[in-house]
Amino acid sequence: MTYEELQKAFDLSDEVIESYKKYAALLKEWNEKINLTSITEESEVIEKHFYDSLLPTKEVKFQKGAYLDMGTGAGFPGMVIAIAHPELYVTLADSTKKKFIFLQAVKDACGVKNVSFQSGRVEEMRTFHEHYDYVSARGFSALPNVLELGLPLLKIGGILISYKGSNAIEELRESERALKKLGGTLMTIQKEKLPTNGDERQNIIVRKSAKTPSRFPRSWAEISKRHL
Ligand code: SAH
Repeated sequence: MTYEELQKAFDLSDEVIESYKKYAALLKEWNEKINLTSITEESEVIEKHFYDSLLPTKEVKFQKGAYLDMGTGAGFPGMVIAIAHPELYVTLADSTKKKFIFLQAVKDACGVKNVSFQSGRVEEMRTFHEHYDYVSARGFSALPNVLELGLPLLKIGGILISYKGSNAIEELRESERALKKLGGTLMTIQKEKLPTNGDERQNIIVRKSAKTPSRFPRSWAEISKRHL
C-alpha cells in the first residue's frame, strides 16, 4: 500500500501523511536498536500498522474525549489515531518502559500534542475507573481479558474497540458472560480485508451500557487462571 492510497482511504490531510512518514522512518531506525515490530517493509508498515490502526474510524465517529490504548507497544493503534484525530486526548499505556523512549521520539518529531504516556499494567489503573470515552487494544489479549481490563476504565456510553483477526466470532462466544458481568453490549463486528494482502479483520466494537462493579478487574493472576 502507498501513502496516496492510505490518504484517500481515510481522507487524511497532507500534514497527517507527513507525520506518518516520519513515524515510519523512526520505526525503521529504532527497530534496529530495540525490538518494536516484525514488519519493516514500508508498504507493509503503511498497510498493517497505519491502515489497520485507522480501520475502526470507518465505524466509530470520534467526538472530543479521552482515549486509552491498552498495550500500545510501538503506538498501534493509539499513536496513529492521535495523529489523525486531534479532537481526542490519547493515553498510551504499556507495561514495558522501553517503548516510551521510542514513543517520545515520535511525539517530538511529529509534534503530537494530544498524547500522554502511562507506564505500568492497565489492571493497576484503578484511579482511572470509568474515566475514558474510548478504549482500544490490538494484539493484547483474548477478548474476555480485553473486556475485563478495558470496560472498568470506560465511562457509561463509552466505546471499546478490540482489534481482532479471523477468530473474533469464536472469542465473542467465549465473552458473553464477561459482557454481562462488566456492563458491555456488542455494537458491531467490523468485517474488513486489508486491501493489498487480503488479511481478514474482525474488529469487535462494544458499548459500555451499565456500570462495572468495582471488584473488576480482578488481579492478573486470577484473570489468567480463568477468564470470566
Ligand atoms: N498494540 C501493539 C502491541 C501489541 S504487543 C500492536 O498491535 O502492535 C502487546 C503489548 O502489550 C506489549 O507491548 C506489552 O508490553 C503490553 N502489555 C501486556 N500486558 C499488559 C498489561 N497488563 N498492561 C499494560 N501493557 C501490557
